[in-house]
Amino acid sequence: MEPEHPLLRDVFPGLVDELSALLESEGEDGLAVSVRDVRLVGECGCGDDFCQSIRTAEHPRGQPYGPGHRCVPLLPSKGMLVLDVVDDRIMYIEVLDRPPMRRLNVER
Ligand SMILES: [Zn+2]
Repeated sequence: MEPEHPLLRDVFPGLVDELSALLESEGEDGLAVSVRDVRLVGECGCGDDFCQSIRTAEHPRGQPYGPGHRCVPLLPSKGMLVLDVVDDRIMYIEVLDRPPMRRLNVER
């Protein structure tokens, strides 16, 4: 764990609640719990208006995730949420076509 990164649930609590509920409804109980402990490592940074994706683990950009990788698409009421998971660790959360998320300031 990288202690310098804030917990995602402290920055976007609504998003984490939604992800957790959607994961439970997909039967992904383990991920529904672990999403509450992921950290906001960085934002996608692609600059596309529709993209608010979040990096939740250190991973070299452009590198494949490797053999343990799977995608977990969810069914939110708005837009698209897709998790990239490697060996049950959430690496990346694709947040596409979603209303702008309000970021809470986190005390360091
Ligand atoms: Zn992006």
